[in-house]
Amino acid sequence: LTGRLGDIFDKLRRRGALTEEDVSAAMREVRVALLEADVALPVVKQFVAQVKERAVGQEVLRSISPGQQVIKIVHDNLVEMLGEGVEINLNAAAPVPILMVGLQGSGKTTSTAKIALRLKTKERKKVLMASLDVRRPAAQEQLKVLGEQVGVATLPIVPGQDPIAIAKRALETGRLEGYDVVMLDTAGRLSIDEELMAEVAAVRDATKPAETLLVADAMTGQDAVTVATNFNDKVGITGIMLTRIDGDARGGAALSMRQITGKPIKLLGTGEKIDELEPFHPDRIAGRILGMGDVVSLVEKAVETIDKEDAEKLARKMEKGGFDLDDMAMQMKQLRKMGGMSGLMGMLPGIGKIKDQMKDANIDDGMIKRQEAIISSMTKAERKTPDIIKASRRKRIAAGSGTSVQEVNKLLKQFETMRGMMKQVQKLGKKGLMRQGLQG
Ligand code: GDP
Ligand code: MG
Repeated sequence: LTGRLGDIFDKLRRRGALTEEDVSAAMREVRVALLEADVALPVVKQFVAQVKERAVGQEVLRSISPGQQVIKIVHDNLVEMLGEGVEINLNAAAPVPILMVGLQGSGKTTSTAKIALRLKTKERKKVLMASLDVRRPAAQEQLKVLGEQVGVATLPIVPGQDPIAIAKRALETGRLEGYDVVMLDTAGRLSIDEELMAEVAAVRDATKPAETLLVADAMTGQDAVTVATNFNDKVGITGIMLTRIDGDARGGAALSMRQITGKPIKLLGTGEKIDELEPFHPDRIAGRILGMGDVVSLVEKAVETIDKEDAEKLARKMEKGGFDLDDMAMQMKQLRKMGGMSGLMGMLPGIGKIKDQMKDANIDDGMIKRQEAIISSMTKAERKTPDIIKASRRKRIAAGSGTSVQEVNKLLKQFETMRGMMKQVQKLGKKGLMRQGLQG
């Protein structure tokens, strides 16, 4: 018996493998989501092709739609591609040089101070910061002020020195005064230019940094590819720090830069304040890029909690039309396992209004629990053949479950409605079968 019994059953029964059609349909949405998140077009294309290849043919999980499952596969691939957060590399002879590079305004100077503070407090490192920015007036003072704020030393300013001379002096001071780490904050430009690249490369050669962090604004968008490619090819970066993740940007730049350079995203800047720095968590950024975090956690919960055997049993029963109160109780149990009404609703986007309406209609988790209590106060015979539950039995059940006759009535009415729906679906299914038979 493999007749198509409609969408309701699709959700419960094994559907075999994800088809090309299932995947393509969902991937159209994913493509739009990625582009809206400002992932660069070539990266989107590559990513979509890769996921398509992986998704087609995967066995479909019952209890979620193929589309939802594809979103989950996309999410998992995003997480994998974004890579795990990696700590700052301090495996070098002290003083360990860390070079900060990036465009002007990307947050290099702020991030230098943030990282210095973190190394000082979390790793108990003695850190020296030096600004190599001789282009912007007051750039060196900016770092000095930040250093005073967080209690991290800065290299004394000597007017007239070029970036390489400052860098060498910083390392020399670091050696002489026993610093663990020397952070070198470079000058940026408004956009990539050869002069900038040459200057940064010269500093790199003079200092041999253990870590060269590309500081990039999360809002960079489509330009992220150009920036990342240039810095990686001409300077050679070891990691990425993404700033302004506290803004509206969906963070597509993270995926673009990671994909183009293959270098890990190490840290996130989450605000203007000096302690607003976080390690990188790929799942959080993946959710943000996709903008479908709700679907993802819904699927995860469904996979975790829906008892496969229960679902299968229920599907078989529904096909036969023998829906009884035990089945209803089973559905309630599953609903509760998924976090109840409020849990489920909370995962769906834009559901606030419906949730309020449901509150008005008194459909809440407490009610589900009371209904479960009502059903478990029934005898086995009553659960199998609810039609025998007349007035006196209703009274007994109400008393046994600590509810009222009114509530018992309501539950039985609800059961009737559900059973009616099941019967209709079943009829439709039979008609479908007949049609198939006539055609065949
Ligand atoms: P630089 O030119 O690359 O050195 O950039 P700056 O460190 O001077 O930062 C430029 C501006 O961006 C400053 O106003 C910072 O306060 C701000 N900024 C840096 N990082 C972040 C961040 O993670 N979030 C927010 N909201 N602002 C940041
Ligand atoms: Mg700066």
